[in-house]
Amino acid sequence: MPFARIAPRLLSGFFFFAAAAPLLAQQGAGRGAPSFWDALVRPRPLAMMILGLLAMVLLLTKTMRNGIKVPFLLLSTFLFGVAANLPVDTFKVFSMHPSPICAVTKPLIFGFRVPMFALGAVILFLTLVGPKLFCGWVCPVGAAQELIAMLADKLRIRRIKWNFTFTQAVRIGVFLLFVFLSMTAVHHVIRDGNKVAVSIYDSVNAFHGFKIEPHPSFWAGFLNYLPFVLTIALAFKTYRPYCYLVCPIGLFTNALEQVSLFRVSLKKPACNDCGDCVEKSPCPTVPEILKGSVLRPDCFSCTVCVNSCREQKALSFGVKRSYGIPTKLR
Ligand code: SF4
Ligand code: SF4
Repeated sequence: MPFARIAPRLLSGFFFFAAAAPLLAQQGAGRGAPSFWDALVRPRPLAMMILGLLAMVLLLTKTMRNGIKVPFLLLSTFLFGVAANLPVDTFKVFSMHPSPICAVTKPLIFGFRVPMFALGAVILFLTLVGPKLFCGWVCPVGAAQELIAMLADKLRIRRIKWNFTFTQAVRIGVFLLFVFLSMTAVHHVIRDGNKVAVSIYDSVNAFHGFKIEPHPSFWAGFLNYLPFVLTIALAFKTYRPYCYLVCPIGLFTNALEQVSLFRVSLKKPACNDCGDCVEKSPCPTVPEILKGSVLRPDCFSCTVCVNSCREQKALSFGVKRSYGIPTKLR
């Protein structure tokens, strides 16, 4: 991979963050809140950043095989999902608060808070570097669904591939409903005599399934865990149902991954059109990669398509070739 090709992109990314840093660093100043940088180097966002970048290295060096993939995904599920529930002080720093969904949606209701901003920056950075590195390798809900998908394959359970236009329409519809209901505070609670908008994502937040805590009633507990339980059950029948149908981060990162530095790329001359990658892959993305589409459905860098083309080596993780400018328009 020629360094000269990726250096300008790395530099532009660096300058973007460097330019934003002074503004971000002031967030929370004077209110007793941590600065952006303090929040960013806390154990949870820092560990997320390290694991995401480690995944990228393993993908680029072609060492992300199942023997590494499974422990990697189990580690993300444990650290960012389960650990904070254990009665061990060391793990309290991995608390689910703010959940990734809250980090990217609650600022619309309550304004920017530094910890949300820091988590949002981790998601943004990891998505701009590689193919949905946060969703693919760090997010505990994503990791749990990926593990279920692997288990379903082992058990030879036939999965349904959704049409991407349909899932994207549902995901956008949920987000627009959230924006409308939150901005108008139609969906609200009364606190201290004031109307306070409530996020509709609170009712469908699968991340809450990882928080083991008492609930005021059986029904409150049931509704809290339902999105997570449904996600896990559906993940046996379709790939990452929560990511494709509901999660707002899935929606944002799908927009961002179109300009990410690294992605699955195709060496057209090496492809013999055998169709193995399309058949074995769980996602709706591979046909679009083969067609050379400018806009792609979500790629969670699961490695299935790349590994299914071992002989021809037509697919690999590499630097995006036509960065920003479709080859045909050049
Ligand atoms: S789309 Fe949402 S649930 Fe899925 S991996 Fe990304 S952040 Fe996690
Ligand atoms: S099969 Fe290929 S295109 Fe689909 S999610 Fe996995 S790595 Fe991405």
